[in-house]
Amino acid sequence: VIDIRGLWTQFGDVVVHRDLDMRVERGEIVSLVGGSGSGKTTLLRQMLGLERPTRGHVKVFGVDVHGGDAESQDLRNRWGMLFQQGALFSALSTFENVALPLRELRTLPEDLIRAAALLKLEMVGLTPQDGLKMPADLSGGMIKRVALARALVLEPELLFLDEPTAGLDPDLSESFVSLIRTLHRELGLTVVMVTHDLDTLFALSTRIAVLADKRVIANAPPQEVLALDHPFIHEFFLGERG
Ligand code: ATP
Repeated sequence: VIDIRGLWTQFGDVVVHRDLDMRVERGEIVSLVGGSGSGKTTLLRQMLGLERPTRGHVKVFGVDVHGGDAESQDLRNRWGMLFQQGALFSALSTFENVALPLRELRTLPEDLIRAAALLKLEMVGLTPQDGLKMPADLSGGMIKRVALARALVLEPELLFLDEPTAGLDPDLSESFVSLIRTLHRELGLTVVMVTHDLDTLFALSTRIAVLADKRVIANAPPQEVLALDHPFIHEFFLGERG
């Protein structure tokens, strides 16, 4: 689904990625972990075509995301993104936030837009009444659910999650994780996520991709990653200070 080769990212003199390779296979839930400033967010933005690498290529579904052609534009229809703070439009109701990608990227009659947006709200455990609420009147957990419904409204094959459980208390976090797990299974999604939360990481990841030394030093099932002998692994997972 995703194939990154020879990725080099440099801001001025600062090299963030040095000849980084990474693949994501269909159906996986791959979590990107790495120290602060290791370039996780930048890598995610590069996968979404929002930022250009200095060198190397990023292919999604076999298409160069930075190709600038119709095919690379069309990728927007095949992935969804859940932003860290939800990124809802405060002037739009919950329902209109979910319907927005349909209005922007599809030409559909109003009744189909309505049916599709209500279905996605239901999928994330919200009612049509919740759809009438404004973002300011929603709890943190509900904002995440609305943002997830919006990310899924175009029926993507690939879902990007940036810190999906950040800011949620443990109970809300657990129920959001189980929602993501259910949707991953039912919709046959491939998921790429960035998270610092170990509970979320282990509850969801089929693979963990470790960004260290400016490259992806491992992209493997959690148990294999835990067994690696690398200072970052010791510090991040085992809480040992070097
Ligand atoms: P964190 O976990 O702290 O969010 P991260 O792994 O997501 O970190 P990035 O945000 O990708 O790291 O940043 C990687 C490095 O690149 C940092 O040193 C950052 O200062 C630098 N950087 C990112 N974007 C830019 C930019 N547009 N211009 C200059 N430097 C940048």
